[in-house]
Amino acid sequence: MNINKNKNILSFFKNATARDWQDSRWQFKNRITKVAQLDHFPGESLLRTEKLNAVTAVYPMAITPYYLSLIQIDDENDPVRAQCIPDLREISCYKDYLDDPLEEDSHMPVPKLIHRYSDRCLAIVTEVCLTYCRHCNRKRFWPQSAHISLKTRLKKIIPYISASRQIREVIISGGDPLIFDDQTIETLLASLKAIPHIEVLRIGSRAPVVMPMRITKEFCRMLKRYRPLWFNTQFNHPAEITPESKRACNMIQESGIPVSNQSVLLHGVNDSPDVMRNLLYGLQKISVRPYYLFHCDPVKGCGHFHTDLKSGITMMEKIWSQCSGLSLPQYVLDLPGSTGKMPLNTMSGTINNNLQTHQHYFDKFM
Ligand code: SF4
Repeated sequence: MNINKNKNILSFFKNATARDWQDSRWQFKNRITKVAQLDHFPGESLLRTEKLNAVTAVYPMAITPYYLSLIQIDDENDPVRAQCIPDLREISCYKDYLDDPLEEDSHMPVPKLIHRYSDRCLAIVTEVCLTYCRHCNRKRFWPQSAHISLKTRLKKIIPYISASRQIREVIISGGDPLIFDDQTIETLLASLKAIPHIEVLRIGSRAPVVMPMRITKEFCRMLKRYRPLWFNTQFNHPAEITPESKRACNMIQESGIPVSNQSVLLHGVNDSPDVMRNLLYGLQKISVRPYYLFHCDPVKGCGHFHTDLKSGITMMEKIWSQCSGLSLPQYVLDLPGSTGKMPLNTMSGTINNNLQTHQHYFDKFM
């Protein structure tokens, strides 16, 4: 148990044994889902729980005890707190913000399957998450949690993929697919792998970050049977890189499955060069590839996390000039529909200045 990390929060779970703490079912069952539960924590005034029911009526809350234990309760600006404790600003009006700015819903040829790009598609296998991230760009789905069973979803998803020979890669996402048990995930992987033109599978899950005990030897042994398989997760702050999350990522990697990271640029969480550099170096140290840094989408309920493009590019210019290529994610802006991801380094003033400074080199050799 991460007992020294935050004694105040862990005292709430004082009846849990070390064995309970390492058990993902215990973690899931004991998620904090009611605002009233937050009142039991020291520092409640900082949590400002009194009006949060209005937020959770729209956007539910769920936080695993493990992820909660990463919060430094005395720090009002704690980056883990910002990502999991509801905030009144989620229901403030951010003019022009949209439920679905990427137009995913209008790219669903069958329910729960997003097909935005010709060669790959994304299956929403659940709307439930281990922990609900307050910045989630699919938070519009949360109230629908578990209304449709996986079996029902697959009845339409599998025939569509089978009939679409241009699809070579399936991303299993949600929600978080790791809310299912190993056997259910194996059935899902097997039914996709059985489609002759499916070459690659990808799982998107925040389990290594918010509930690393979900990653077990048995789970990894099962995953290994479905390679080539890629595992993408989402660390957003160095405080999320712990011995437990490192162990979870290493177990997946030891099964021959690469682990990549897709962060989101979040105001107040990771929008400073120092934090971002520590995150990227920290990921590199645990052999997790920084793959994408997404500019925060203009999603309703996430406006307070939004940074403007100029600040994001200015911050990343420092990172681009200081950090080794192996620790650099692509900083991208996801655009609606099938337009795709726009790399933002092309908009960097420094890069454009460098191009001008070295114009003679280009003129001569390029
Ligand atoms: S785990 Fe993913 S889908 Fe679930 S709330 Fe977090 S970002 Fe959204």
